[in-house]
Amino acid sequence: MEEREFLELFRRYLRSRGLYDTRARERIAAALFRLPGHVDAAALGYRLRQEGVPAAPATVYRTLELLVQAGLARKFVWDDRALYEAALGRPHHEHLLCTQCGRIVEFHDAPLEERIAEVYEEQGFRPASHQVLLFGICPRCSAGSSQ
Ligand SMILES: [Zn+2]
Ligand SMILES: [Zn+2]
Repeated sequence: MEEREFLELFRRYLRSRGLYDTRARERIAAALFRLPGHVDAAALGYRLRQEGVPAAPATVYRTLELLVQAGLARKFVWDDRALYEAALGRPHHEHLLCTQCGRIVEFHDAPLEERIAEVYEEQGFRPASHQVLLFGICPRCSAGSSQ
């Protein structure tokens, strides 16, 4: 998916909710789409302000939440910190998180995805979205603590 399609979907979502498609919202959505990894609202806001985009922290936060509601972004929360990433334009994946340094590793596991689909079926749930977040200590931190 290209950035303009992503932005068009966001515009459509905003219109459907009777919300304004402001320049700041567009810039925030575009910045998230371009980012290869995961980011919190504060870091994304800082980045945008460095580029001269007047993105107030509350606007950044609200826009990221709207992107999640629109199904265009994924959010996961760890230790009072909410991290966001674009959900479209990238293959589906899950995350490992190092509780020592905060490093995030992405992985995809086909048997796990198949099993998740079976669980939905077994429990009679219509699938919407899912995320698997594994906590642990990364190899770098493990190596550091054994020295
Ligand atoms: Zn670590
Ligand atoms: Zn990710």
